[in-house]
Amino acid sequence: MQNESRFHPMGRSEMLDSVERAFEERQFKIYYQPQYNHSNKRLVGAEALVRWIHPEYGIQSPGDFIPLFESNGLITRLDLYVFEELCSFVASCLEKGLNVVPISFNVSRHDVFCPDFIDNMEGIRKKYNVPVKYLRVEITESAAVEGNDYLARILDIFHSLGYIVEMDDFGSGYSSLNVLKDIKVDIIKLDMIFLKGEISGRGGIIISSIVRMANWLETPVIVEGVETVEQADYMKSIGCEYIQGYLYSKPVVADEFVKLIETGKSTATKPAMKIMDGIDAERFWSPDTVETFVFNNFMSGAAIFSYDKTHDSIEILRVNEKYIKELGMNTTQREVILSLKSLGLDEENRRIYVDTIMRAIESGEEETCETWRKIHSDCCGDDELCIRTFIRIIGKSKGLYLFHATIRNITKEKNISDNEKKLRQAVDHANIFCWEYDVDTKNMYPCSRCRRELGMPAVVKNYPEPVIESGLFPADFADMYRDWHKQLDNGAKSFEAIIPLTADRIPFHVRYTAEFDENGRPYKAYGSATLVVDGEN
Ligand code: C2E
Ligand code: CA
Ligand code: CA
Repeated sequence: MQNESRFHPMGRSEMLDSVERAFEERQFKIYYQPQYNHSNKRLVGAEALVRWIHPEYGIQSPGDFIPLFESNGLITRLDLYVFEELCSFVASCLEKGLNVVPISFNVSRHDVFCPDFIDNMEGIRKKYNVPVKYLRVEITESAAVEGNDYLARILDIFHSLGYIVEMDDFGSGYSSLNVLKDIKVDIIKLDMIFLKGEISGRGGIIISSIVRMANWLETPVIVEGVETVEQADYMKSIGCEYIQGYLYSKPVVADEFVKLIETGKSTATKPAMKIMDGIDAERFWSPDTVETFVFNNFMSGAAIFSYDKTHDSIEILRVNEKYIKELGMNTTQREVILSLKSLGLDEENRRIYVDTIMRAIESGEEETCETWRKIHSDCCGDDELCIRTFIRIIGKSKGLYLFHATIRNITKEKNISDNEKKLRQAVDHANIFCWEYDVDTKNMYPCSRCRRELGMPAVVKNYPEPVIESGLFPADFADMYRDWHKQLDNGAKSFEAIIPLTADRIPFHVRYTAEFDENGRPYKAYGSATLVVDGEN
């Protein structure tokens, strides 16, 4: 593998002296840096990046010679050279029948002021007979500084020829937002570099706002310079799944890129688990904190959402992968963030949800509710799901509140409850005490016989502590019984034992059976106690 390191950096005059020969001898080589969809690890595109392979000085990086070429006008010649190499490469791939992906090339801001540039480009493209869908124009934000109107016209020309145009290094300049307003770019490229260093905490907020805004404009975002799985997972969790960076691959020579097209595989790996201490809103936003790591690797479906009290609006900002699994509808994080602006709640359910938000703000504790939601996915269509949500506030500023939520899809549980009612009635007629234990809430719901004959309330909270305290349950069996519940929480399937119950300590056969959801997690356990008949003991 050819590596990126150069041997000797060249001085300005050395470059100028050897540049003409460099063009003649075709010393400029194109490297390709692949872009991946981090959700499915598929190759989605690439960027063409130039290097100068000098016979004496070795590989020169574009960061060193591009500025010089920009200052003396050579850049346009170079960019056309790169474009020709690119077209020739794509043509050869197509000839071989390869499944080639679109490749972006850099158009310097000087190029767009050169009147013949686009004509020359089109001449080259036609010479190699490359369909425009394989080529993407990458233009830097700073090109817009000279005047948005001019750039907008250039973009119109590219668009009319069928090119997709990407705005490179978005967010690096001052004018980003204005640029977006005036110029119809098709794809935004963000650089992870802007997140490093001192802006780590706020960087997360900035980058997630940009992605959110881009999502609103339905403009895809490609994030560059991604070096770690944490950064990639973070970007995915805020709705940006297209990744270009060393994590997946450095820029590689044409032959190696062809291999990547052929295999379509990647080498990204998962990191080992770490531990979290507490929650701090700012840390939660930053892509390289433990909090973010834990969020992405959380065992339950988790989301970060904001509630704007003044406008009474809820917005999902981030969801982890388990969240998607929990919905069970084969959606993507981006889809959820885009489509769930209202969480799929109708008026009645929204009221329940907002009430819970208000309680969470007031108590500072975790609050929970159950709501029905209409969820849409491209693959499964529409469905209605019952979601239990646990909400905790993690930040606030001037009427805007930030929350962490975990969700649990309890649709199945809800849908069988009609059958359960019938069963309960049948049980009531038999000589049996029974109850339901809810694993999440630790609530116990006794049957009507329990209530009638043992004087239990409709719901016993923090089960089984109250029945142990009340003496209904014998003290010498208490620890065993507590342990059953612990094990039920952890996925045990069933228990049984003979236990002397009631004030009279009559031996009962107590049995427990757990019920599991689609993801194999216990959500309920059914308990029963029947009188021990002679000979059983
Ligand atoms: P750029 O267009 O923003 O290209 C991305 C740069 O980030 C590339 O540097 C790439 O090698 C580097 N990079 C990619 N992934 C990572 C990563 O994970 N970590 C880090 N630290 N860096 C990463 P490169 O190839 O040195 O190019 C530098 C700049 O030179 C480019 O920035 C672009 O502005 C310019 N350039 C390169 N090729 C051309 C060209 O053909 N024409 C023009 N006009 N400019 C070019
Ligand atoms: Ca670029
Ligand atoms: Ca860039």
